[in-house]
Amino acid sequence: MTHSFDVIIIGGGILGTSISYFLSNLNKSKKIAVIEQAHNVAFHTSGRNTGKVHAPYLYNPEKKKFFAKSAFHGYEMWETYAKLKKLPFKKDGVIEVALDEKGTSVLEKYLKWGKQNGLEDNDIELLNKEEIKKIEPEIKCESALCVYKDASTDYSLFTNSIMKDSKESGTVFLLDTRVTKIEKEKDRWVITINDDREIYAKFLINAAGGEAVNIAHDVGVAKKVTDVHFRGEYWRVPKEYNSLTKSSVYSVPEFPEYPFLDPHWILRVDGSCEIGPNAVPVFSPYGYGKVKNIKEFIPKMLEMLGSGARKAIFDKQFQELAINEIQSSMSKTAMVNRVKKFLPKINADKITEKGTAGIRSSIIDENGKFVPDVIQMDDEASFHILNYNSPGATGALPFAAHIVNHLNEKEFLKCEDPQAQCGPWKFNEIIEKIK
Ligand SMILES: Cc1cc2nc3c(=O)[nH]c(=O)nc-3n(C[C@H](O)[C@H](O)[C@H](O)COP(=O)(O)OP(=O)(O)OC[C@H]3O[C@@H](n4cnc5c(N)ncnc54)[C@H](O)[C@@H]3O)c2cc1C
Repeated sequence: MTHSFDVIIIGGGILGTSISYFLSNLNKSKKIAVIEQAHNVAFHTSGRNTGKVHAPYLYNPEKKKFFAKSAFHGYEMWETYAKLKKLPFKKDGVIEVALDEKGTSVLEKYLKWGKQNGLEDNDIELLNKEEIKKIEPEIKCESALCVYKDASTDYSLFTNSIMKDSKESGTVFLLDTRVTKIEKEKDRWVITINDDREIYAKFLINAAGGEAVNIAHDVGVAKKVTDVHFRGEYWRVPKEYNSLTKSSVYSVPEFPEYPFLDPHWILRVDGSCEIGPNAVPVFSPYGYGKVKNIKEFIPKMLEMLGSGARKAIFDKQFQELAINEIQSSMSKTAMVNRVKKFLPKINADKITEKGTAGIRSSIIDENGKFVPDVIQMDDEASFHILNYNSPGATGALPFAAHIVNHLNEKEFLKCEDPQAQCGPWKFNEIIEKIK
């Protein structure tokens, strides 16, 4: 096996895999590797999410500029890719409901943001109580924003297919391989894998999802921020509820500045339905169960208390919201009741099967505030992506192209052929669109 690479990407989630896809298409003679600790790509957050290809209506075009732009272009790119590769992509739409007048004014704001972010009149419309009743008789609400340009898919299948393409263009995927130490020598990175042996890279890309902050800290970057992990849990509902609605249903979050969206009614691409996710604070990006959380509790608490996260932990509003989430983790009925507010027909007693939980890692700055947008950091011979949260899967392709273009333009990582064809797209045409 080769031990020296031009570029090593840490993280085989949807983002790291997409970056490798563009890099390998644009640089046929560079040696590129993706390192992933799990036995397959998309094993963590990228394969454990709600599976929505989101239209960008929830994102403030100023505060969440990158997420909004990437989601807008990502939708079209995934649609094209799915068609080409015969992967599932169902345009089933999403309905955002308001339960009172205050919520309706939030929907008006979302409508405006959606249009500012590129949606057209026939992609999104605001309906009143009577109008929505005609389309979705089971939904109880004051008003509803119908977003027709929203779809369902399986991001694990997408990531695996992108990996296959990337391999064909020369990327090496080192699976079951954990980066355990990173050191800088004069003109190269020395990366220890599995606590066992060393490999080398001229340039490092940190796309490590829930561990991206730790890796950035290890190489001396982003020292002022820290992260907090939230487990999003789901409940699968029995088949008799599968045709309750034609679209997924979200409700207006009460505190959008915190990472607590109320659980949704979700239509999965295979036709099944789920309720979720909540956002339960946990102590590791892999804190799916008790054992890992107990093990990581003390080190994570100490880290948080010594950083800006301390302010968030002692914030009364945050504490109240966190308790609410913990309650909905301990009690199925508490969780189901949050959806029952707008879908009264659901009976918690009939729901018995848990879905697959996924964990998001939100960044907190030194003032104890949650950072709204993705953080991109250049450093000497390395690039770091932090806070890559929802709708990160939707935006992964254009955002990955943007990163590769940025590294090329800044001459950190000069591309051999920036006009190259990347699957169904010409790279420079993607860049023209997303600029
Ligand atoms: C509950 C939930 C629901 C969501 N729903 C949606 C949705 O409907 N639509 C949408 O667009 N987005 C959604 N998202 C967001 C989306 O899933 C993420 O933005 C996206 O998957 C992030 O991808 P990633 O590649 O950055 O991270 P990840 O998928 O977490 O990948 C990072 C990878 O790095 C690896 N890694 C970390 N450290 C190391 C190391 N030291 N050595 C080797 N490997 C390492 C990890 O094993 C992991 O596989 C959701 C997120 C959550 C949590």
